[in-house]
Amino acid sequence: MGDTAIGRADPLVAVLGGGQLGRMLALAGIPLGLRFRFLDPGPAAAARALGELVVGELGDKASLARVVEGADVVTYEWEGVPAASARFVAADRLVLPPPDALDVAQDRLREKELCRRLGIATPAYVAVDDRDGLDRAVEEVGLPAVVKTRRGGYDGKGQVVLHDARDADHAWGEVGGVPLVLEAHVPFDRELSVLAARGRNGETACWPLAENRHAGGILRQSVAPAPDLSPGLQHAGEQIAGKLLDELGYAGVLAVELFDVGGELLVNELAPRVHNSGHWTIEGAATSQFENHLRAIVGWPLGSAAAVGVSAMVNCIGALPEPAAVLAVPAAHFHDYGKSPRPGRKLGHVTVTASDRDQLRTRLGGLAGLPGMDVHT
Ligand code: AMP
Repeated sequence: MGDTAIGRADPLVAVLGGGQLGRMLALAGIPLGLRFRFLDPGPAAAARALGELVVGELGDKASLARVVEGADVVTYEWEGVPAASARFVAADRLVLPPPDALDVAQDRLREKELCRRLGIATPAYVAVDDRDGLDRAVEEVGLPAVVKTRRGGYDGKGQVVLHDARDADHAWGEVGGVPLVLEAHVPFDRELSVLAARGRNGETACWPLAENRHAGGILRQSVAPAPDLSPGLQHAGEQIAGKLLDELGYAGVLAVELFDVGGELLVNELAPRVHNSGHWTIEGAATSQFENHLRAIVGWPLGSAAAVGVSAMVNCIGALPEPAAVLAVPAAHFHDYGKSPRPGRKLGHVTVTASDRDQLRTRLGGLAGLPGMDVHT
């Protein structure tokens, strides 16, 4: 499909998925004159207030046809969107990022194979297809190791850590019977992510790497730029993102989750979409990930991805704080996704911006102890 930007007034963006990422895409795109239509299985989808919502399954062809009707470009905000659905839509609409990226990102083995082919480091890994294969993989990769389902896992689900060869039976009982990958359990110093946008003309913009803290497999807090981010580390992150973007013929935002092991970056996983570890860019960067994703897929020039000071983003998980309590903290920005509370569910986030790390720490301290927020200063 062509490289020319969408020219007509009020372009319509169809979004597969209507969660908080779709909602924040629309919050960024409406001021640019974009209109939005979402497809989501739930009538209470977080994006419902920002555009038309088609309620239907993401694999249902009639629903897909309805959501993309008249759309200038189609994107997705959830990597669980069946790749077959993206391909079905791509037969007569521009779908960005390309469905191939979705295909790769839905399979942990293919992600790693792509990285290996591009000379990008990952933890050591071996594919596992049966119980004996798990024992062979443990011998090859060594221990500790983590076995993951190739498909369908997210937020730490579908994975088991093995500390001893005798853990294999238990691990197989937990996740066996589907294609798996065993990877070395990496003694990382910290988790980072790199987010980059690539336009339809190949121009790129890369945000400063973020440092991410997970608990129970769920992202709790991101700080950006990552503390002690050297130009060399930023460059290494940009190289990784750039190789993947070019190889995939990508347009839109790509997020790459990384392990920092003594200054070496290993790729953990890819997300072919806007990403939780980039929410800080709404207030903390010259152009947000949401705006640049839209600029990229519509064919408009990208905006600067430079950070404005330093920022921390804290997720609100399972419960939301009172807005007044958040807003009492200087430069705190509250984002309520309008979702009903459930344990472990991301209901909102708070970003705090500051001019330096000391000020950031003080401001973050003002959020400590608020419901749903696990703040580290
Ligand atoms: P994932 O679903 O692959 O992003 O994994 C969720 C979390 O589990 C990651 O953010 C890490 O904290 C941890 N984890 C996953 N894979 C590994 C690994 N190979 N080594 C060490 N920790 C890991």
